Amino acid sequence: NLGRVGDRLDLPVYAVGGFVRDLLLGQRNSDVDVTVDGDGILFAETFAAEFGCRVKSHEKFGTAVIVFPDGFKIDVASTRLEYYVSPGALPTVERSSLKMDLYRRDFTVNTLAIALNSQSFGKLIDYFGAYRDLQAKVIRVLHNLSFVEDPTRVFRAIRFEQRLNFRIAKHTEDLIKNAVKMDFLVKLGGRRLLSELVQILREKEPLQGISRMASLGLLRFIHPSIELTSELQAALEEVRYVVSWFDLLYLERPYERWAVYFLALCEVLSPEQFWATCTRLAVSEHQSEHLAEMRRQGAELIGAMERKLVRQERLENSDIYFTLRGLSVEILLYHMARSGNPETKRCISLYFTKLHGMEPLIGGEDLKRLGIKPGPIYRELLDAVLSARMNGRVSSKEDELRLVR
Ligand code: ATP
Repeated sequence: NLGRVGDRLDLPVYAVGGFVRDLLLGQRNSDVDVTVDGDGILFAETFAAEFGCRVKSHEKFGTAVIVFPDGFKIDVASTRLEYYVSPGALPTVERSSLKMDLYRRDFTVNTLAIALNSQSFGKLIDYFGAYRDLQAKVIRVLHNLSFVEDPTRVFRAIRFEQRLNFRIAKHTEDLIKNAVKMDFLVKLGGRRLLSELVQILREKEPLQGISRMASLGLLRFIHPSIELTSELQAALEEVRYVVSWFDLLYLERPYERWAVYFLALCEVLSPEQFWATCTRLAVSEHQSEHLAEMRRQGAELIGAMERKLVRQERLENSDIYFTLRGLSVEILLYHMARSGNPETKRCISLYFTKLHGMEPLIGGEDLKRLGIKPGPIYRELLDAVLSARMNGRVSSKEDELRLVR
């Protein structure tokens, strides 16, 4: 249908980029990128009107997103750029070819295009030896200044290398080393660095990406004190183990997996250094505060819990619950991974699998029926009932009502 709309408007339309790469590799890719040799916005609007989709367009960049009623999206770019030199002036139109458009991309494997118009439907367009590199499983830049032009590509190279199980070409790797040595990465804004880091940490196996970042000297851009020592390596492996365990529980508690790895990466940092790193990486103030506070509070609470365990004091289920309930999933997983005490790990595991989400069988309505005046006392009573339930002292609604009475 994309091709047919292109035919009618007399515009050449191509599927490009990651979509074509993954298609040829037989991998899933839910993003569809389309490039129109002409006015992409006109194309997107015509397509959307015909197929009942919405369009979000950016006139300035000649790009648009077609959004289907079920949320599926197609990104549309134009090889033609129009811009206004001064307000009110006629637009200056820069016509660029598909080849130029593809040349601006990051790696050869992302430069493939497939023609979608009826006459040439399915024709593979390969200007830069992309097919050869896909077969050889190589990540290669298109020109020597690629990383100077855009240092985020350094992280993208690592991400694709790990995800696709490819290898960064020798010359490309030398260019990365050079960009690191010449400090080009310092120019990279915090927000963009964070976004790349998060994407690496969100990959299925982030450890390989982290180790590649370390060998290329990139960890210091997060903070100069971060090094992949054997301790950090062990910490990350523990995180990986705990995170996989948690994912297998299918608890449907949403959490940011990348943040658990990020906390481990930043383990050597003092609270001040951690805060400075979050600020530099433009982590939102809300999230920085959340992470810093959780980091401190988690260490304190779990430390207190461990001291009790060391003194062989019996921890009841309710102690575990009320100690841990204010902490986020990320912090709990991080401390579960980092604690050397198997009993602590057991407590956190029990919290996730059994205690979290437990509720008393009675509620406010029952307390009202008992003639208790509503107020903060309700919370206290219900917490006391919950404790009794967790510790196995009550097991029915009658037991709970008797306890309150
Ligand atoms: P993913 O599966 O991670 O989304 P992708 O290849 O689709 O992989 P995107 O980040 O969605 O990656 O980018 C879409 C396309 O835009 C890429 O295929 C690439 O050609 C191009 N691109 C993205 N970022 C850059 C960049 N920094 N420099 C040059 N080209 C880029």
